[in-house]
Amino acid sequence: MDVVLFGPPGAGKGTQAKRLTDMLRIPQIATGDMMRSERASGSELGKRFDSFMSQGKLVPDAMVLELVEVRLRKDDAKNGAIFDGYPRTIPQAESLDGMLGKISRKIDRVVSMEVELDEQIQRITGRRTCLACGQVYHLIYNAPPANGRCGNCAGELVQRKDDTEEVVRKRHEEYLANTAPLLGYYGAKDLVVSVSGVGSLDDVTERIKKAIGV
Ligand code: AMP
Repeated sequence: MDVVLFGPPGAGKGTQAKRLTDMLRIPQIATGDMMRSERASGSELGKRFDSFMSQGKLVPDAMVLELVEVRLRKDDAKNGAIFDGYPRTIPQAESLDGMLGKISRKIDRVVSMEVELDEQIQRITGRRTCLACGQVYHLIYNAPPANGRCGNCAGELVQRKDDTEEVVRKRHEEYLANTAPLLGYYGAKDLVVSVSGVGSLDDVTERIKKAIGV
């Protein structure tokens, strides 16, 4: 099964994608996470990603395509994937259709997670992410253990550089200009199911499971 988790920054895509991976035994393909780990490696490519990410701008489509092509070839993605934060433009969606088509697959469902802008900003600015395993916490809604380390692996928890209010507003503008039009692209293929992204983590997971029929 190939599913796109769609929605604005702070909709909860990453958190829910991680929960679904465990249940469905297919990997999360999160281009933002992949770019952050490339950046953390200190490579030249990582520095190029950072020049866009730190300003809340989208990374050019050609660079994203290369990342996803390599990732999709890995063995764990042979039965499907949960795409999180990708595709983010219509050309990315077209190239994903092409890549999946070559291996006789297609997007089965696009789950659009809906959350208001004020809520997105509140969620994002309180977000803390584990440097080691990527687990996501929120200082209020999903508080990390009292020792301030990751509950899974005791890794260090950090705030993402682009999770400040100023950059979040820029990311939201990018979302409206370039990413939201994908709802029309996938809507024309009758693939979109909208779910509210507001509520407990379990409630939202249940809505997504219903939307994808598992
Ligand atoms: P995310 O972790 O999905 O919130 O992405 C963080 C940042 O990484 C975005 O604001 C973009 O700068 C960049 N990024 C992640 N995924 C993509 C993508 N599919 N296309 C373009 N830029 C991306």
